[in-house]
Amino acid sequence: MIDVGPAEAPRPIVEFGERRVLVTRNGERWLAAVGIPLDAPAGETSIRVNTARDVAFEVREHAYREQRLTVKNKKYVSPDEAQLERIGRERRIIDSALDSWRDVDVDGLILAPPVDGRRSSSFGLRRFFNDQPRSPHKGMDIAASEGTVIAAPGRGVVTATGDYFFNGKTVIIDHGQGFVTMYCHLSRIGVEEGQQLETGEPIGAVGATGRVTGPHLHFGTYLNGTAVDPALLLETVTAAD
Ligand SMILES: [Zn+2]
Repeated sequence: MIDVGPAEAPRPIVEFGERRVLVTRNGERWLAAVGIPLDAPAGETSIRVNTARDVAFEVREHAYREQRLTVKNKKYVSPDEAQLERIGRERRIIDSALDSWRDVDVDGLILAPPVDGRRSSSFGLRRFFNDQPRSPHKGMDIAASEGTVIAAPGRGVVTATGDYFFNGKTVIIDHGQGFVTMYCHLSRIGVEEGQQLETGEPIGAVGATGRVTGPHLHFGTYLNGTAVDPALLLETVTAAD
């Protein structure tokens, strides 16, 4: 969160690289909420305010934990050509929904928990499936039984729903200014694309669709097209594993 000036001024346009950044009011100040990629190098970087002024900040190293998993269904470890084609097509749909920009006022970044349950896998975990390195875990897994209703953690608009190869049945919600949340492995999708949601409205139910070892909710949160740790945004954080 970076202070970008007094709130008497209009909400400034803030960019990080090529991407617009969410700006929210905090009392008398505007704050920019910048999502930093997990693979960003440590060191000084900056955001640009109103295409004129650079505000510098420092990215520091953070060590994430490592996890080794055995996945029995080979199709999820070594997909064939047709599956790779499907994965690529779905990746483009998902990326575009995660990178959407809607220029509305966003009233803070605090989210209600989408389901109650134990956090079974944390953001940033470095994963190996059958000893093959995979991309780090870009969300929080919350253990809950199949059929547990998932509630929208904040107001927003449904921008994508689908049944994807890795993510299974999925819902993506746009909360405004590039603040996006994603729900994966659902047993049932209860919303439609374009639907407006208020906090607490049901969006579907926990399941075990896609690449999973058991029923849980994969909860992803994004700022400026970049996955950020949901634990930073939840009003009540359940105990870590
Ligand atoms: Zn997950």
